[in-house]
Amino acid sequence: MPQQIWPRSFQYFRNVKMFLISLCVIIALFLCGIFYLLYAKTTDLLSERMREQAGTYADLLLHMKNWNYDYGGVYVEKGAGVESNRYLLGLGINPDVHAEYGRVLTLRNHAIMMDEISRLSERNDGTRFRAVSRKPLSPGNVPDETEKTALRQFEQGSREFSRIELDASGKPRFRYLLPLFVEASCMECHRSQGYHVGSVIGAISVSTPATQMMDEIGTNKKLVIAAAVLTITLLVGIVYFLTWRLVIKLDDAQKQLKKLASTDELTGLKNRRQIMQRLGEEFERSTRLNEPLCIIILDIDHFKRVNDTYGHPCGDQVLKQVALRISDSLRRYDSVGRIGGEEFMIVMPGAFLEDARTLAERQLHTIRNESFSDGQNTFSLTVSAGVSMITASDKHVTTLIKRADKALYAAKQNGRDQVMVA
Ligand code: GH3
Ligand code: MG
Ligand code: MG
Repeated sequence: MPQQIWPRSFQYFRNVKMFLISLCVIIALFLCGIFYLLYAKTTDLLSERMREQAGTYADLLLHMKNWNYDYGGVYVEKGAGVESNRYLLGLGINPDVHAEYGRVLTLRNHAIMMDEISRLSERNDGTRFRAVSRKPLSPGNVPDETEKTALRQFEQGSREFSRIELDASGKPRFRYLLPLFVEASCMECHRSQGYHVGSVIGAISVSTPATQMMDEIGTNKKLVIAAAVLTITLLVGIVYFLTWRLVIKLDDAQKQLKKLASTDELTGLKNRRQIMQRLGEEFERSTRLNEPLCIIILDIDHFKRVNDTYGHPCGDQVLKQVALRISDSLRRYDSVGRIGGEEFMIVMPGAFLEDARTLAERQLHTIRNESFSDGQNTFSLTVSAGVSMITASDKHVTTLIKRADKALYAAKQNGRDQVMVA
């Protein structure tokens, strides 16, 4: 009955759908994880490239500073626009010397040299650098907040510092610092500041524009998201579509198998197993609700003769024709099945003996008046029927069947082509 099959089938498809959705979510999450790792790795590589560039820069500067420092500063020609070191002048030291041919040279210590190179570099590609000090003597070496943070980390043992931050105009800059340690040669000037050999005296600070890198990271992010959305949609879609199609096909095949397993091949009626199951269900229902239930067992009279006279194939055709006539005249809730060679059973829920007898009589009448043929000869047939109805003392369906069988036997004994009621 469709009322029974539908909810079971609906639940089955709901479960399959839930399973499929879960599977798709797992696949999607897995792919999201892979794409996130890909994104993180690429972003890491871009930052690493920036860090290496800044590190190379800082190393080079450190060498330059040491080179200058080792010479105790270097003299440059004091041409137009070149000023003397004001800090030295302030200390009462004259940094200028007069050379031959009226040339004037002025002393550039490591701090001023770095400051001037930094200004050149900033004009070129925006990269700034300088030395910052923990205890600055000159205002040019006073660390800003980022540099202070880096210095604190260096004091705790860190060997490098990098971070991306926005400058005053909101543009991203890559900040990179390398620590400077006190060497024995520094102690001459810095002993009074309380340093000792090996302690952090300051750092080389590099600040370079990171707009291009951030743009690359942004583009990378968009590409990864697009690739992720495309791959996930495609893969999940394909998995969902193919699996769902497979499930539908399997379900169809299962239904087909079920039908085959419950149908009598020759007549298309319910087979013995199926009609007995149906009778069992109706028997239980009638017992529980105390409702009437009748069965009719029909048996073709002298069917052996049909086979013997017209051949087995003709017998088969006759069986089909009789089956068709029987099922034609059923009520809406009646079921019919072939329970033996030329024997049929009708299950009539809610029917009283009189209803069942009337139906059986009608069917006998129909078949009596039907003409059958083997292609050459035309002949007629009769059918006998036994009817029984459920009683309060029936504990099992077999007693109901036995009574119908007995009635059928009586009908045969009584001359056939008649209905007998148990
Ligand atoms: P009765 O009136 O006492 O029922 O006589 P009957 O000849 O119908 O009963 P019997 O039990 O002697 O013979 C039944 C016959 O039905 C025997 C068998 O060859 C035939 N039969 C059973 N199944 C099939 C089938 O699938 N096809 C055909 N053609 N014949 C079948
Ligand atoms: Mg028979
Ligand atoms: Mg028989």
